Amino acid sequence: MTSKILLVEDSETQLKFLKDGLIQNGFEVETALNGAEAYKKVFEYIPDIIVSDILMPVIDGYQLCRMIKNVDETKKIPVILLTVLDKKIDSFWGKKAGAQLFLSKSINMDELVRNINATLRRYPLTQEYKTTLALKSKSDNVAQTRLNTILNDLLLKSVFANEFRNLSDFMNYERILVEKLFSLLSSFVEYSVAGVFFASPDDFAENILYIDTLGKNLSKNVLSDIQYDFFRKMEEFRTFKNSKFEVVRILMGKEIDYQFTDLRSKIIIPLIFDKKLIGGVCFYTRQDMDYASFRYFDIMISELLAIFKMKYQYTEKEFMSVLDGLTGLYNRRQFEISLEQEHNRTKRHPSDFSLAILDIDFFKKVNDTYGHQYGDYVLKTVADLMKAAFRKTDLLYRYGGEELVMIMPETNIEGAIIPVQRLRRMVEEYDFDYNNIKAKVTVSIGLTMNYQEFNTPADILKSADEALYKAKESGRNRVVLYEQQQLN
Ligand code: GH3
Ligand code: MG
Ligand code: MG
Repeated sequence: MTSKILLVEDSETQLKFLKDGLIQNGFEVETALNGAEAYKKVFEYIPDIIVSDILMPVIDGYQLCRMIKNVDETKKIPVILLTVLDKKIDSFWGKKAGAQLFLSKSINMDELVRNINATLRRYPLTQEYKTTLALKSKSDNVAQTRLNTILNDLLLKSVFANEFRNLSDFMNYERILVEKLFSLLSSFVEYSVAGVFFASPDDFAENILYIDTLGKNLSKNVLSDIQYDFFRKMEEFRTFKNSKFEVVRILMGKEIDYQFTDLRSKIIIPLIFDKKLIGGVCFYTRQDMDYASFRYFDIMISELLAIFKMKYQYTEKEFMSVLDGLTGLYNRRQFEISLEQEHNRTKRHPSDFSLAILDIDFFKKVNDTYGHQYGDYVLKTVADLMKAAFRKTDLLYRYGGEELVMIMPETNIEGAIIPVQRLRRMVEEYDFDYNNIKAKVTVSIGLTMNYQEFNTPADILKSADEALYKAKESGRNRVVLYEQQQLN
């Protein structure tokens, strides 16, 4: 019986040459111009052997071979790969792809025929095997379905990878990173509520759960239920030293809506790296989950893991270092250490110190209008103005995003107003100019000092925050002093 060869080659001249040669040697030959076409023909033609080129468009020889070797119905069909390349890497991939033989294209026809015959003798297909494959091919459109699945996955993988990779530009802006992440996730996961959480290498950092409700407003109860549900799951993967789960930030929201019990299905994904919990993602839906989309979850999770890993390592680096990379000011961790030290020192040896917290006004708008790079420039410039406005002995920090804090040792609030006002005015008068784009920016500042009523460093910070809030509320671009509690 003549053996059937499926010959795959993208160059038509080469294809014709090989085909003629093989027919002259008594084989029956069917041809295909690329891997995708060949894959379909495997099911239609049921060859005894496949002889394929490697470099081809759409699906190459390695991929074709892998696809054939991956499934039971076709994996016994022997494959010979032909190539002009003669690098180690080629035979490495050839073997990985599961090819029976790997031949150089420069081989002459006699040798090729000898090799084909030897391979056919070594790997004969039984009639039964061929019949099963033929039946399978008739019953459904296997080849096309498989091909589509593979192509979709390939496409999805590269699209996903690209989209996720774009997020890496926002590693140091957690909030923006989360917003972008939500907008990406919502484009392919059907959810009613999604949550994202980044674990911090700092055990004392707040555990913030960011929530996206797709524009709907969630009642406080539902929020706290979700928060509890999610963080309880996270607890299983890491024991938080001091569980501060009180913080939930909704990024988008409008009207009061459903109950937690309306959210019928959920997926909670802990992200683990190096045996550490580095974050988590959750999805809650009102409908039952669409399990068809689960195929994408594998791909999504591996991309999420890459992003979270990067974010964790970034935070870790920041946490370990003393200075903030963008502004050159001391970072939040240093601030917390200093505030605690200053608090303890002045408790032991009574003296004054003042604390101011600055927040840039409408900074979101700056970012939205001119881009984040411009925002960074503004932030860095405000920090520079701050360095110019204060004395060397004053301690300056970047507290978070666009919030800067100042500790002024041996300074009461009356004394502190002077440099603080000076700074506010310097920012107001400064002509911001970057890449020829000019802008005006103002800041709001809350000012306080170590009043007797404060027992902890956190109390002092809170009072500055309160004053800052009032500065924002009463119109921005101003300094507001904390109002001491009236003692009766
Ligand atoms: P408000 O006057 O009430 O303070 O308005 P705002 O727009 O400044 O509001 P808010 O303080 O809530 O927003 C701060 C924004 O600053 C959020 C985030 O997009 C942005 N941001 C935080 N950190 C950075 C950063 O390092 N670089 C840039 N470019 N933007 C940042
Ligand atoms: Mg702010
Ligand atoms: Mg602001």
